[in-house]
Amino acid sequence: MALKSFIEVHPDSHFPIQNLPYGVFRPEPGSAARPGVAIGDYVLDLSEIASAGLFDGPILKNSDCFSQPNLNKFMAMGRSAWKEARATLQGLLSYTEPALRDNAALRQKSLVPMNKVEMLLPVAVGDYTDFFSSMHHAKNCGTIFRGPENPIPANWFHIPIAYHGRASSIVISGTDIIRPRGQGRPTGNTPPYFGPSLKLDFELEMGAIVGPGNELGKPVDVNEAANHIFGLVLLNDWSARDIQAWEYVPLGPFLGKSFGTTISPWIVTLDALEPFACDAPKQEPPPLPYLAEKISKNYDIALEVQIKPAGQEDSRVVTKSNFNHLYWTLTQQLAHHTINGCNLRPGDLLGTGTISGPEPESFGCLLELTWNGQNPLSLNGTSRKFLEDGDEVTLTGCCKGNGYNVGFGTCSGKIIPSHP
Ligand code: MN
Repeated sequence: MALKSFIEVHPDSHFPIQNLPYGVFRPEPGSAARPGVAIGDYVLDLSEIASAGLFDGPILKNSDCFSQPNLNKFMAMGRSAWKEARATLQGLLSYTEPALRDNAALRQKSLVPMNKVEMLLPVAVGDYTDFFSSMHHAKNCGTIFRGPENPIPANWFHIPIAYHGRASSIVISGTDIIRPRGQGRPTGNTPPYFGPSLKLDFELEMGAIVGPGNELGKPVDVNEAANHIFGLVLLNDWSARDIQAWEYVPLGPFLGKSFGTTISPWIVTLDALEPFACDAPKQEPPPLPYLAEKISKNYDIALEVQIKPAGQEDSRVVTKSNFNHLYWTLTQQLAHHTINGCNLRPGDLLGTGTISGPEPESFGCLLELTWNGQNPLSLNGTSRKFLEDGDEVTLTGCCKGNGYNVGFGTCSGKIIPSHP
């Protein structure tokens, strides 16, 4: 018998009782930020559920983790606490359990219509790292930036490559993105220019949110790494390609990336994603022993990007990809990150890198979709090489179950002009 909630959930909803993603919200303007889970068109206020004494399991009974303005404390408690919370919430929301179903006063206090709430960043992100884990993306970018001879760097099949991103400019879905200004160099040996980026792009990614961290000097074993990952969000790693192309040799991305990174508000847990686990691609050459996993897992998450061009009412889908295209797994990324002794902390964010598939329709950014502007994309009667002011980009992700979805909602942002 399928799990079912007393709250009516549309079959197309991303948030049935099988999902229960965590976020942080304000029920009304000016009220305190608090954790919640999404259920259908509602947000369940976990601070109210905790105050009512309904988290009665041994780990969460006396915890104040749900009266915090972010999820860091809960995430730091680890998988046994997450499992206990999930079991409690699936019980409370099920149609056979009266504790919340038949308590009108508590329902009134704790269930807030989703369209009334303000969503906030769900975690305080201390550090943000962005990987480069899709082979198709690595190959396409290498071909565009360095030429077709050796598009994938020699180290790529041995190392989950990454760079340290900027945590301070991570913003929640719905936040406008100001077009960055910076240096670019058009072609050949012409002098560099300075001004608003001429090649502003999105990147379709997902981000893993770290739960318990590791002590400085003590790497995480790749086979234990999943216990350090609380869940996933959608992530748009906005990129200024002209700034990036000119600055990134030899140290990698800097100002071409650090002006803004948008994440979706709901963190979908690995427990909710487990029914959608699938085998990761076979790795050839085999990775070094510290990256060799007993089980090498991806997830079947259908991903899509839509653009609503400036001044228009309708969006158009510009790419469809899937999380299962990643070559390096989340657990390999996390283990590699710590192998030199580097410590991760609760709330750290690990971006996957742009998730491109093998087909041109599945490329995860405009750099690839338009081949660096050579083949403009036609879009509702207009066309785009890169993003223009007023364009709005929306990422979505969803796992299709038998009669239900486990989805991520949306991750969107609109480009506004550079400051003069
Ligand atoms: Mn990226």
